[in-house]
Amino acid sequence: MGKFWGKFLRSTAVICLLIIFAVNYRFEMKKTIDRFKKQSDENYYAMEKDVSAVNELLNILETSGNMYYKKNSNIGNHNFDFRYRSKDDIYVSTDDSHRLIAGVNKISSNWAVKKELDMSEILSESYKNISKVMPDIAYMYYASKEGFVNIYPEISKDSYPFLRNIYRLDFVKKELFGKGNKKEEGVSWSDVYKDPLGDELLITAGAPIYDSNTLKGMITLSLKSNFFIKKIDNNLITDFFIVDQKGNVISQMSHGNEEVTSFYDRLPKKLYDKRYKFSDMKPCDIEKIGKYYVYYEQCNSAPWRVYYVTDMVKLNAELLRGNVVFISIWLISLVFLYGASRRKAVVEDSQQTIEKLQVMLRKSDREVEKDFLTGAYNRKGFTKIASSELDRMRRYDLDACVIMMDIDHFKKFNDTYGHACGDFVLKSFVRTVVKNVRLSDIVGRWGGEEFLVLLPETDYKGALLAAEKIRKMVEREVFYYHKQSLKITVTLGVATLNVRKTLEKSVEEADEAMYSGKETGRNRVVGYQDIMSKDIKWKK
Ligand code: GH3
Ligand code: MG
Ligand code: MG
Repeated sequence: MGKFWGKFLRSTAVICLLIIFAVNYRFEMKKTIDRFKKQSDENYYAMEKDVSAVNELLNILETSGNMYYKKNSNIGNHNFDFRYRSKDDIYVSTDDSHRLIAGVNKISSNWAVKKELDMSEILSESYKNISKVMPDIAYMYYASKEGFVNIYPEISKDSYPFLRNIYRLDFVKKELFGKGNKKEEGVSWSDVYKDPLGDELLITAGAPIYDSNTLKGMITLSLKSNFFIKKIDNNLITDFFIVDQKGNVISQMSHGNEEVTSFYDRLPKKLYDKRYKFSDMKPCDIEKIGKYYVYYEQCNSAPWRVYYVTDMVKLNAELLRGNVVFISIWLISLVFLYGASRRKAVVEDSQQTIEKLQVMLRKSDREVEKDFLTGAYNRKGFTKIASSELDRMRRYDLDACVIMMDIDHFKKFNDTYGHACGDFVLKSFVRTVVKNVRLSDIVGRWGGEEFLVLLPETDYKGALLAAEKIRKMVEREVFYYHKQSLKITVTLGVATLNVRKTLEKSVEEADEAMYSGKETGRNRVVGYQDIMSKDIKWKK
């Protein structure tokens, strides 16, 4: 065969190989995107199931409540003795089992009201049983149009401002007082709101109770919104958002759930710029926006939209992972085709390519372990690194320390300057911390504005010094946001970590020390061993 033909055949074969690669890449990419869709669907169905279960429960409670009024049953033998409490302007009564029932208005002792109270008693029993199977329900209550509330689980007398909060909820106002006499049935869902007695975000579902055509009250179940996040396992989904009708994020994977924030404020910048695309999406649509893929579902059992997000880095990494054999054969063929003279160079080339692929894979693994906002390790990443550090310590019998940091009065900071500015400060804070610790120290975001530093091979004294350095640097630093100069302080707790302790235990101790610092004035460093020794002295 002539030289020309040899060269021609080889070039053709190389072109064929390139085409095979391109076709295969497209095919595999499509498969990977389908898997992302499938995972999103699975998560969506799991979530739908829970939402339907809540709807179902409420339907049952609603039916039995309505039936209760139809039956001409006797009223249970209760002696509700409502007393007026002037300090909070409500009427309170304790039933036989010391359960509190409270009212906003004066509650007369006529038969109709007694009957209603009786029904709320019966509901309480059902609530108790429901709470056993659905621990993510924060509260269940019956709010009456007469103005009384029966809450389960029972809350303390001091927490009764919650009673008024229930009547202030837009959702309750609308359902109980906003519909005139028109009879409506079925379950409705509230917007997301902050639990007046805790830190969590809640969503409440409720159904009306009627006596013939007269609205009596409303039975409700309040879910913690974090409930939905638990369902997602580490897979192709990098983030997801459940968004209510007003555009509030009810639940999000890569964010603590401490704030009611609008959907668009929570999106990565790239997605935010293309926000108009979201309104065009149809259920089951996948849309490519920048380097992200977004999958959309409209919830059937509640008025929510659900968006699942993945990005090209994650998709490519998954694709490479699943095609290592194909890519290896492909590279070897390419090398072979290049002929002996150039073989050596190409082998080196392809080795470089493989190394690059490996670096890319490792990088994308690490991305999953990083916090979206600050770039610090997220809880998962931090725990992973810490446990490999613990393994190393066991081998060489080394000590380490953990510092827990919580920014002081950050809530007030957010309220004054806005959430976006808060985010900026969080990012800058992490930068300041990273600048002021050793390269071998590991900085992680434990949640919200709480951060951890793991200091390998550092003793207690050394860790206290390191914490003090961070405290001083943060106190001294001025952050500039839109030409505004801002300052923060941070409280730090220090605990040791050694082979006899678990990471959880050390974090708990550091947390306790940090809280003691909060109690004694903030902007300070407290070591766990120091509070312990003070405790012992005090006890003596
Ligand atoms: P303390 O001194 O007692 O720590 O007061 P605090 O206000 O900082 O109280 P706490 O630690 O309970 O409040 C944490 C606040 O941090 C709640 C929330 O407003 C804010 N936060 C949590 N995560 C984020 C976030 O990702 N971005 C922003 N901007 N704020 C966040
Ligand atoms: Mg704080
Ligand atoms: Mg905090």
